[in-house]
Amino acid sequence: MNKVRLPRVDINLDKIAHNVEQLVALYGRKGIEVMGVTKTVCGDPTIAQVFVDKGIRTLSDSRIANLKTMREAGIEARFVLLRTPAMSELDVVVKYADISLNTELAVIQKLSTEALAQNTMHEIILMVEMGDLREGIMPEDVKSTVRKILQMRGVRIVGIGANFACFGGVKPSPAKMNALSQLADDLDTTFGLDLEFVSGGNSANYQWFSTCDDVGRINNLRLGESIYLGRETLEREAIPGLFTDAFTFVSEVIETKVKPSAPYGERGQDAFGNTTTFTDKGLMKRAILGSGLQDVIVTGLTPKSDIEILGASSDHTLIDTKNAPLSPGDEVAFDLDYGALLSVMTSPYVAKKYVIATQELNTVS
Ligand SMILES: *Cc1c(COP(=O)(O)O)cnc(C)c1O
Repeated sequence: MNKVRLPRVDINLDKIAHNVEQLVALYGRKGIEVMGVTKTVCGDPTIAQVFVDKGIRTLSDSRIANLKTMREAGIEARFVLLRTPAMSELDVVVKYADISLNTELAVIQKLSTEALAQNTMHEIILMVEMGDLREGIMPEDVKSTVRKILQMRGVRIVGIGANFACFGGVKPSPAKMNALSQLADDLDTTFGLDLEFVSGGNSANYQWFSTCDDVGRINNLRLGESIYLGRETLEREAIPGLFTDAFTFVSEVIETKVKPSAPYGERGQDAFGNTTTFTDKGLMKRAILGSGLQDVIVTGLTPKSDIEILGASSDHTLIDTKNAPLSPGDEVAFDLDYGALLSVMTSPYVAKKYVIATQELNTVS
């Protein structure tokens, strides 16, 4: 077997498969279908295939490059562009996405032209602003927008959606979910639409879902973090029965020495322009790991053993080893939060290693 270099991320495909299965079953009980979000893992086709094997039929990503990767890898799903298309990419949006989230009439107009040119039909989910203040059409403008889109050829409205807890930290409350349901009913009656997707949100919708008796018209959620890290995202509580450790970041010790705990000599700024204060705790057993901010958002790492992260620069992470007997060449493992996961999957310096119960697959990227 190839030796996988470090730093690396261990990706446990069985744990991801388990989380997908559980969430699909849970949300399915009240008629909600899960749209798998792949942007968190940069459209990794091996992970996307796990989603599809476990019954997910739509895969969504914010980047066309990732949709293209998955399509070209032969993943069979309906592909959704998870953000409003940029004017500069409309040809590839029509080519690689079956559906895109949209909020801008001028963009939709050009999507229509592009779809006609490519002799295809491009499907649209209109995003509605419900308070979180990222993407979305103001609710009072939705009807007039729909009316204009219905004049266009080459594009078809297949749903509406809203996003929560991303920019403003706003909760998908029962009142907000009811408002979205009512809007769906209203559009169906006014325009005879029969919307296929009423997409109520993301991993932040778990609490709403668990406590509501009636989900109304909501029939879709776009899930990333709760699949990958087994958590809802309003309080970051673990969801019962899910794995929170499907991903593990592993780095290598490159120096261990007993050194003072406080810097000595005249001091100015550190590598990132900060002036930090240190408490003198006397001599300390310190280690350096061969990874830093070019590999991972270090503040999003939690050591799996009893050591402490002191800080990091671009390529070094400083550790108080406490009583761990570390020496150069040893591996140190960490759990990841959302930002850390996103950064290790994005960094070209971090090797991706797929772990399966019975076998291990390596890719060194
Ligand atoms: C990233 C994203 C999601 C997924 O959010 P999670 O918190 O990872 O479940 C859903 N919808 C949109 C529009 C997104 O951009």
